[in-house]
Amino acid sequence: MDRGTRELSGREAAATLRAKVAERAAALAAAGTVARLAVVVATDDGGSRWYVRSIGKAAAAVGVDCVVHDLGVDATSTDLGARLAELSADPAVHGIILQTPLPAGVDAAELAGRIPPAKDVDGANPESLGRLAAGLPAFAPATAEAVLRLLDHHSVELEGREVVVVGRSTVVGKPVALLLLARNATVTVCHSRTRDLAAVTRRADVLVAAVGRAGMIGAEHVAPGAVVVDVGTNATDDGGLVGDVDATAVAGRASALTPVPGGVGAVTTALLLAHTVDAAAS
Ligand code: NAP
Repeated sequence: MDRGTRELSGREAAATLRAKVAERAAALAAAGTVARLAVVVATDDGGSRWYVRSIGKAAAAVGVDCVVHDLGVDATSTDLGARLAELSADPAVHGIILQTPLPAGVDAAELAGRIPPAKDVDGANPESLGRLAAGLPAFAPATAEAVLRLLDHHSVELEGREVVVVGRSTVVGKPVALLLLARNATVTVCHSRTRDLAAVTRRADVLVAAVGRAGMIGAEHVAPGAVVVDVGTNATDDGGLVGDVDATAVAGRASALTPVPGGVGAVTTALLLAHTVDAAAS
């Protein structure tokens, strides 16, 4: 990052988290329980499969057993539901992820609703989101929690501050808003129908972009000195990854910005494994 904008890397926060997870997984294994994560996949989407492989590698490195259940692109709701039922009933499985995208015609929310909240390590079951909204214990979606972990790691104050979230998906925008509210931030959530987006986002002390449109947040969206968290992961034609924030445009205007890659995404995977160990320990 240049011109006075600090880079809020996720790599160190992720490494700290992974070291703790490895320690806890080893203690559990010594006591006879191997923390186990099941990832249910039914897609040939390259990005999705790359992500599943990266979870597998990260799991192996910290002593969590990650088992991929690839049901193929022709899997039906019945096939997926049956596998989720098996995994839900298996006491040796502590965490379950239902990887998206799913085949056409499959209702992702309905299926995610079949993951027991105690094993719902990526907070996909609508019940988990409801519990989060009600302030009850639940696993938050790992990406949403990663935003908070990253800000905490870099000692960014949230209490009483204006935070604007761009995006209102159930996987990122809504849960991140709930987590921020629980930390006493004053939260505004924007979306595709927000009028004069830049005028709203310029109110933010902390701006969280979770849209999925490469470089859409420019200098005009950022108040001088704001902290900007870029959740976006957009594939480029040359096989790279860019965020929702135009990092060059906001450099020198934002006081700090999370990089893509190496920001929120780095912490997300570590949190999935932390949640799996939490589930195995309870
Ligand atoms: P999503 O389900 O497509 O939601 C996108 C949100 O952005 C929607 O709420 C949409 O508004 C809003 N939006 C779209 N165009 C807009 C515009 N012009 N102005 C304002 N808001 C606009 O996406 P998602 O699953 O939340 O993911 C968001 C991004 O995060 C993606 O790049 C995704 O790849 C990334 N992601 C990263 C991680 C990670 O670990 N780093 C994990 C998950 C996702 P409406 O609701 O009105 O349609």
